[in-house]
Amino acid sequence: MNPWINANILEVRKWNENLFSLILKAPIAPFQPGQFTKLAVNEKKISSEKKNTQKKIQRAYSFVNAPSNKNLEIYIVRIIHGKLSNILYNLKCGDNIFIKKNAFGFFILDEIPSCETLWMFATGTGIGPYCSILQEGGKNINKFKNIILIHAVRYENELIYLPLIKKLYKKYSGKLKIQTIVSREKSINSLNGRIPFLLKNQVLEKKIGFKINCYNSHVMLCGNPNMVKDTYLFLKKYRYMERHLRRKSGHITMENYW
Ligand code: NAP
Repeated sequence: MNPWINANILEVRKWNENLFSLILKAPIAPFQPGQFTKLAVNEKKISSEKKNTQKKIQRAYSFVNAPSNKNLEIYIVRIIHGKLSNILYNLKCGDNIFIKKNAFGFFILDEIPSCETLWMFATGTGIGPYCSILQEGGKNINKFKNIILIHAVRYENELIYLPLIKKLYKKYSGKLKIQTIVSREKSINSLNGRIPFLLKNQVLEKKIGFKINCYNSHVMLCGNPNMVKDTYLFLKKYRYMERHLRRKSGHITMENYW
């Protein structure tokens, strides 16, 4: 049983016309950083028998906040003609929506074997779980000597969580390295292109000064399913890395966002 419970909207942070973060309050069960929940609203529908029936419009979203933070934070991209994201974008402080009592998912450090270097790759709103993991910190972080966080977006102004990432960079004093990538415009502060392309031409690893290999690295991939697939195929073919499963240890842990 995983019931829907009420979540109260504290704030809707509209970063631009497409990207926003919801700040919520809800008595959910404890969760692990990296996990996701489901948000929903009631959809009013008249069924064929002309009776009022209530269905929910629901979708999965990762937590951005550390579990120890009493307010919940969810980072969302508005989908053109999307049913739920447009409703969520227009919520106001004080509104109520539904959230699942218990969180879901295994995109968590508990599931990842210790290794020298943990690579965290994200596109778009896929940065969320890493923000939660790195804000929480804790003993799981000690399983890795180095953590490398890579965030790829289309335009520089979509690097919404960069100020937080820069704070985390300072907090981890040398253990955390960060690299941004922008694909659709030139930016002096970021690499240009897509993740698999920048791995293939070795530009990304040269810039960071670390190399991904199956002996000392684990790779987390989160966001656009095409990025996840293309990066996975590259790592499998050229770095001999395998998907990490509970029943068979490997080097790649993945979370598709849609
Ligand atoms: P995005 O289109 O996912 O792009 C983010 C970054 O990923 C860009 O740098 C993009 O490069 C790159 N990328 C795209 N395909 C790739 C591939 N095969 N390999 C490597 N990198 C790749 O942007 P977003 O702002 O996060 O999301 C925008 C759209 O994604 C939304 O409008 C929506 O259509 C969809 N989306 C859907 C859902 C959903 O639940 N249905 C959720 C989130 C997003 P390029 O600029 O070169 O494409």
